[in-house]
Amino acid sequence: MYPVINPATEQECAQVTLAGVTEADVAIERAHDAFARWREVAPGERATLLRGFASVIDGHIDELAELEVRGAGHTWSNARWEAGNVRDVLNYYSATPERLFGRQIPVPGGIDITFREPLGVVGVIVPWNFPMPIFGWGVAPALAAGNTVVVKPAELTPLTALRIGELALEAGLPDGVLTVIPGRGDVVGQRFVTHPLVRKVSFTGSTRVGKQVMAGCAHQLKRCTLELGGKSANIIFADADLHKAAATAPYAVFDNAGQDCCARSRILVEHSAYDEFLTLFERAVAGVRVADPASDTDSEMGPLISAVQRDRVQGYLDGVDVAFTGSAPQGDGFWVPPTVVLPVSTADRVWQEEVFGPVVSVLPFDDEDEAVAMANDSAYGLSGSIFTGDVGRALRVARGVESGNLSVNSHAAVRYWTPFGGYKQSGLGRELGPDAPDALTEEKNVFIATTKE
Ligand code: NAD
Repeated sequence: MYPVINPATEQECAQVTLAGVTEADVAIERAHDAFARWREVAPGERATLLRGFASVIDGHIDELAELEVRGAGHTWSNARWEAGNVRDVLNYYSATPERLFGRQIPVPGGIDITFREPLGVVGVIVPWNFPMPIFGWGVAPALAAGNTVVVKPAELTPLTALRIGELALEAGLPDGVLTVIPGRGDVVGQRFVTHPLVRKVSFTGSTRVGKQVMAGCAHQLKRCTLELGGKSANIIFADADLHKAAATAPYAVFDNAGQDCCARSRILVEHSAYDEFLTLFERAVAGVRVADPASDTDSEMGPLISAVQRDRVQGYLDGVDVAFTGSAPQGDGFWVPPTVVLPVSTADRVWQEEVFGPVVSVLPFDDEDEAVAMANDSAYGLSGSIFTGDVGRALRVARGVESGNLSVNSHAAVRYWTPFGGYKQSGLGRELGPDAPDALTEEKNVFIATTKE
């Protein structure tokens, strides 16, 4: 048994039985059996089942949100959005089965057609920071493309995944098509990597574990998609709407207590606007409402997920120049206030490493070229924002920053209509958007001779 702890109160809120290798193997074999039938379900019927699944989720938004508020310390507005995102992503990919087109390619001597064939059993490994959306991003396109799916939620946050697994059955998804297997990463997650019947692993988590997953998959040439860490830059030019830039910057990094792979945790400000920005930013940070989300429905930031994570985050603050902080509750719970630090240089650990907590570093830059160079001086390349009034510059900088997802005068990050994924050590492959099902299929080519004997 594994205790699920409410991180805002440190009280146990549930016990979950963890599966071992034997249980994982049984579930994978059942998923493999179910694949033979699921791939034959007519496209329109598979689409209807996915829409039905979305509709059942829609009827349980508040219940799912409450599980995430109590089990992971998410704010109510985030948790409702996250449950709604599972519904929306299922609806979006419910259009896939009826549109999984191949091509007809002109060739001599016959006709040539391609098919998009499902892979088989897909293993989805989910981290603890956004348990519901990341579940949906992995599961929905995989099912839509005709695969069956086994999901391993993070040890710390299995509750919503387990409930969504039950809702899938309630919605009429056949047994074995979607199975949630709570377990340890190095046991169940690793089994997804080594089990030959799992044909693809969609992994979201740390870069360290992602590299192990990729190395393990290499033994079987198993497909894998990796969504890993980030250290995204929020680049603010002096010609930007500074009030908007300062008012939105806290939410671009302190949302989900900074436990967000897309957190804009490096703020780069053009020298001539630096002092004014910091003054406005300090006011905005002071305004972030940090409170136990379960008892304060207007809370904008909750606790960190665990004592381990809190201690890790606080470790980054040793010896650094803290410019100012916001507030945080005292007493029980894994709290760290929103914290703004001023590194000495871009070599500082807090500037380079993913803190995964409510800590943001601010440094000035002199010109556009330096801003791009500083943004790119990172092992990561996941997200980023650019604030400027000059559309040409916005596009030049967006093209120059080595990152998979950029927003101009906005912090919009992950939207299910558009591809999402990272450059460099932020990942491999893309999720979401119109092409995600392609990465969950093999492209098969068939030539049919038409020449007379
Ligand atoms: P983690 O790598 O420790 O764990 C992620 C998942 O992998 C968990 O379910 C864990 O049990 C499992 N796991 C652990 N060891 C494993 C192994 N040897 N084999 C297979 N699976 C294993 O990461 P975390 O601490 O849960 O999540 C935080 C990290 O996730 C951060 O680095 C964050 O940036 C990243 N993240 C990335 C994205 C993205 O889309 N790029 C989204 C969210 C989080």
